[in-house]
Amino acid sequence: MPPLWKSPLYLAFAALLASCTVSGTRYSSGRDVWGHRPGPKGFSTVIIDAGHGGKDAGATSRSTGQREKDLTLDMAMRLRAELGGDFQTLLMRDDDTFVDLDERVIRANRYGDAILVSLHFNSGPSHVRGPETYYWRVDSHGLASRLQRMMSATSPAESANRGLVRRRLRLTRNPAIPCVLLECGYLSHPVESQLIADSAYRQQLAAAIAAAIRAQSAMGDAGTGSLPPPIYAPPSRPTDTRE
Ligand SMILES: [Zn+2]
Repeated sequence: MPPLWKSPLYLAFAALLASCTVSGTRYSSGRDVWGHRPGPKGFSTVIIDAGHGGKDAGATSRSTGQREKDLTLDMAMRLRAELGGDFQTLLMRDDDTFVDLDERVIRANRYGDAILVSLHFNSGPSHVRGPETYYWRVDSHGLASRLQRMMSATSPAESANRGLVRRRLRLTRNPAIPCVLLECGYLSHPVESQLIADSAYRQQLAAAIAAAIRAQSAMGDAGTGSLPPPIYAPPSRPTDTRE
């Protein structure tokens, strides 16, 4: 049996939904809320989302004691500086405050000609290392591919990680604009966490992310392979696993 969101009934419901309200944002029926279209080119705005914050510290490195929420804010500042005057840049948070994931989606949806890049650091078994990129929408595949390629080129080695992953998360499915979630490396890996603690390495990572964003804006999806198939999955909920 196909999953619920591939059933004819659900597709009909999805079409109806496309003319209504999703995640607090009103769409016209001509707009594809699912993002089933080629990736963006020539966009003007980059929304930079520093993951976690405030009461939500995210992961903490056992070897360096660094907290994910501090590192993501640091990366957000570096990425904004790297993007310079090429784009309008907006920070989802610029200090140590908690912002709910659904609130982040609502804020992102205030901008039309924009992409959303959510920054995180990962945690897992101690042998796993390297950056990972998560996307869901068809229009986010090219950007995600570029980001994973550029981050991997910066990271000295990858092992056992998941690389480029299509996963429905609140920040990869629910925004109405192309959106990606970056796990910039594993705080749980003894060597990678030491690298991440080095500000020069974080600067290199930020430069790699900026280069991928610039390439996407200049070329669209050209050279990033064929688009993935559409998937009609409903908005992601807090109860979904692996957020
Ligand atoms: Zn995180």
